[in-house]
Amino acid sequence: MRGFRTALVEKGDFAVGTSSRSTRLIHGGIRYLEYREFRLVFDACTERRILRGIAPRLVRPLAFLYPLYAGQRPPAWKLRLGLTLYDALSLFRNVQMHRWLSSQEAARREPLVAGRGLIGVGRYYDAQVNDARLTLAMARAAHLHGAVVVNYAPVVGLMKTGGRIVGAQVVDARTGREIEVRARIVVNATGVWADRIRALDEPGVRPMLRPTKGIHLLIPRTRLHTHHAVLFTSPRDGRHMFVIPWKDFALIGTTDTDYQGDLDDPAADSGDVEYLLEAVNHLFPGARITPSDIVSTFAGLRPLVAALGHPSAVSRTHVIVESPSGLLTITGGKLTTARRMAEELTDRAQKRLAEMGVRAQSGCRTREPLEGAQIEAVEIEIPDDRVARHLVETYGGEARWILGYIEENSALGEPIVPGRPYLLAEALYAVGHEMAVTLCDVLIRRTHVIYDARDGGLSRARAVAEVMAPRLGWDQAEIERQLADYAAQVALTRTPFSA
Ligand SMILES: Cc1cc2nc3c(=O)[nH]c(=O)nc-3n(C[C@H](O)[C@H](O)[C@H](O)COP(=O)(O)OP(=O)(O)OC[C@H]3O[C@@H](n4cnc5c(N)ncnc54)[C@H](O)[C@@H]3O)c2cc1C
Repeated sequence: MRGFRTALVEKGDFAVGTSSRSTRLIHGGIRYLEYREFRLVFDACTERRILRGIAPRLVRPLAFLYPLYAGQRPPAWKLRLGLTLYDALSLFRNVQMHRWLSSQEAARREPLVAGRGLIGVGRYYDAQVNDARLTLAMARAAHLHGAVVVNYAPVVGLMKTGGRIVGAQVVDARTGREIEVRARIVVNATGVWADRIRALDEPGVRPMLRPTKGIHLLIPRTRLHTHHAVLFTSPRDGRHMFVIPWKDFALIGTTDTDYQGDLDDPAADSGDVEYLLEAVNHLFPGARITPSDIVSTFAGLRPLVAALGHPSAVSRTHVIVESPSGLLTITGGKLTTARRMAEELTDRAQKRLAEMGVRAQSGCRTREPLEGAQIEAVEIEIPDDRVARHLVETYGGEARWILGYIEENSALGEPIVPGRPYLLAEALYAVGHEMAVTLCDVLIRRTHVIYDARDGGLSRARAVAEVMAPRLGWDQAEIERQLADYAAQVALTRTPFSA
């Protein structure tokens, strides 16, 4: 958008890493007030406002409750002060200012938090997002503005001339072909993998990241039907966590533990699950949530910049570092602050380019509406309201494509899995318009079938693969490979409670 020729290469699918495994919030981060991270909270609140403005279909306001019980920390005055500060750091421009609800009022509005010595409840607003879809929308918008955007294209080496980086060796993961991409500036924005790219530049360089793992549980809302998102603390260690209404589910998370395992496939373990269940049953004793209520789990790794102390206390701020050969690494931060991180990074790149005599055509323009993320009126003649709503909310005006596929082949109007709103036609749209090239792309990130269906959608995965196959030139052997890869991912989301 500043007029530079830009290429983005991603080793897997867009958002395959941490950006599809978050708590799905665009938030100021109220809990960081505890660590006096006022600047971080201010920046995140500002970004929350910008993202709601530029991507209103994707980033939606969500009301949160913070119930306070007798004997619990923080004291009520401090919580109320914190909520006022949270409003102030949003420059009083959030959806609504916070409100303090008496225990009686809270009992009426959210019966599940009532009783047990409830003193009162703070209500405030943050926002909710489908993280993988926001990431995809940003990549698609970049493409619309002229960037070359390629998935399944890992960087395997960096090219140098006279000690300066002048490009990267990239492999087309599907064919194995290696391509050299020349560039005046190379940016390393690879999340928890950032140290690996840094090591390609400077072998033996000291790692800067301390990845921590966070997991989530998804349980049917029929088992825990809160009307609001609820922020609460673990009885074990006082850490903050959330129960968040997510469509027909309650999303519960998260944990924060140091992680040394495989960066590509983190998964919840039984300790993580027990920890969350203990906390949620402590807050909602009547709900008696058991492992058999869990539909799925997912785990993500935070690309935190190394620091000592408890992981929850490690700062979420981002850093930009420039190596002697010119590699720009950006890491840390939050999904919420991604736009701002990109702005700062591009400012730095622009400066370096100016030194090389390359001028920008404009300044930062990412406060303009994000393409494909606006609310549009779409006429949808589908008898099932839930499906119609799902299509409009997920695709906006582009839902017309999906309807078009169904008009031409009514079989594509079948649900992917019974009881969920996803349609087979979405798989076709994902291949044709959203660069989905594997079954996992469709069932994990373009849709959430993996998380939402009791069996992870395994019983219907073949039907989806068969819709995708002709478009992607898959033969029978490839279909079997896709199914096996997907089954392996489903297994990761079902451990460790499945029979
Ligand atoms: C449990 C959890 C909950 C969270 N909740 C929230 C939340 O609610 N709100 C919020 O704002 N933030 C949240 N975060 C933080 C947020 O998700 C992350 O800060 C953000 O997603 C990180 O994005 P990233 O682009 O840096 O990393 P990633 O999303 O991991 O992207 C890095 C990408 O680089 C690619 N890559 C790696 N190596 C190579 C290579 N050699 N060549 C090409 N590509 C490569 C990877 O495949 C990956 O897709 C949460 C994080 C976790 C773990």
